Amino acid sequence: MTSAIDLDSIHEARERIATHIRATPLVTSLTLSQICGTAVGLKLEHRQATGSFKLRGATNAVLQLSETQRERGVVAVSTGNHGRALAYAARAVGSQATICMSSLVPENKVTEIQRLGAEVRIVGNSQDEAQEEVGRLVADGMVIVPPFDHPDVIAGQGTIGLEIVESVPDVDIVLVGLSGGGLAAGVATALKSLRPSARFIGISMTRGAAMKASLSAGKPVLVAELPTLADALGGGIGLENRWTFPMCQKLLDDVIVLSEEEIAAGIRHAYEEEREIVEGSGAVGIAALLARKIPKPRGPVVVVVSGGNIDMNLHRSVINSVPNPLRWKE
Ligand SMILES: *Cc1c(COP(=O)(O)O)cnc(C)c1O
Repeated sequence: MTSAIDLDSIHEARERIATHIRATPLVTSLTLSQICGTAVGLKLEHRQATGSFKLRGATNAVLQLSETQRERGVVAVSTGNHGRALAYAARAVGSQATICMSSLVPENKVTEIQRLGAEVRIVGNSQDEAQEEVGRLVADGMVIVPPFDHPDVIAGQGTIGLEIVESVPDVDIVLVGLSGGGLAAGVATALKSLRPSARFIGISMTRGAAMKASLSAGKPVLVAELPTLADALGGGIGLENRWTFPMCQKLLDDVIVLSEEEIAAGIRHAYEEEREIVEGSGAVGIAALLARKIPKPRGPVVVVVSGGNIDMNLHRSVINSVPNPLRWKE
């Protein structure tokens, strides 16, 4: 069932998307290396064109559409990083994305997605009503590109894993933010194929860790969605999940959950020590290291810094709140 996504499909994805995405830098963090007692590398995916790694998966998916499908356009429900990525990817291949949202979505999110070239369709007062509109558009011939549970999306995200192993061939532990599991499934497939001894850890927030709850239950389950600093990690994995759940079952060595204060400390560290503006979901790997929740490394650690699309007023208030209590403890 899951054999459709293997190292070959990730290599193919890499060639396909090469001219459309940035091969992002992987930089050594001196402070985190000191804190952890081993080399810690940061894979800077928040420097991707739309501010998150989701551009890789979306681009790999739209590049495989037929001419007719491209003409009809692509569609998704997303106010966040997937919506931005799909808008950008569609325009890059001469297609058109329609992003459906409820009327509760703030105006600035609407404008951002429109600026990236997508049509925004505001429908009803809930995510469910927006989802129904997607159903109608698909019935009219448009193609849905889901945010994580799709082989082409997973293979696209997996290209990060190839770049990590090339930069750090002796990598021991890789840390990624975990929501629907597209990023984890793709990167872990590449990592475990190229370096079977490496360990792979997903990180979520305590407030609404759907994949963790599903892994514990042995099947996809619903969790309450709560406001969190790691908003891009919110939402379910889909009760009809086909791909990412079995792959995460097989490939994840552990899932770690973090409090809001721990995530805030990650955002602060990224800004003050690394000079990077990172959103909560992008900071969870750094946060897990600062909170000392990771097993003892036997070699280099690589953290995927997955996104930077944080509201700047929120960023300012996180930076200005209490300093990271772990700072300079070493
Ligand atoms: C979507 C997203 C994730 C999680 O990716 P999944 O494939 O849903 O697990 C992590 N970080 C950021 C910034 C994201 O946008």
